[in-house]
Amino acid sequence: MPVSYCRQHERLMSRKHKGWIDFPLEKTEAIMVLYRFFNRAHIDTSEYLVIETACDKCEEIVLQKLQDELKKIDHP
Ligand SMILES: [Zn+2]
Repeated sequence: MPVSYCRQHERLMSRKHKGWIDFPLEKTEAIMVLYRFFNRAHIDTSEYLVIETACDKCEEIVLQKLQDELKKIDHP
């Protein structure tokens, strides 16, 4: 199962912690390099495939924008 990562907020979905954790971009890029290295050697390391997605902070920002827009509708 691939690893979800948000580059913008440097957050990684941790199965161990069962949630998003802060994780530096440079370490994530090192994992991506290792994944490509093993993949070229035909060694299955699908657990280390990093997929960039939105994180919990991205969702907070979207929710805040939606709430601000709803306030404008309620109180024009
Ligand atoms: Zn994010």
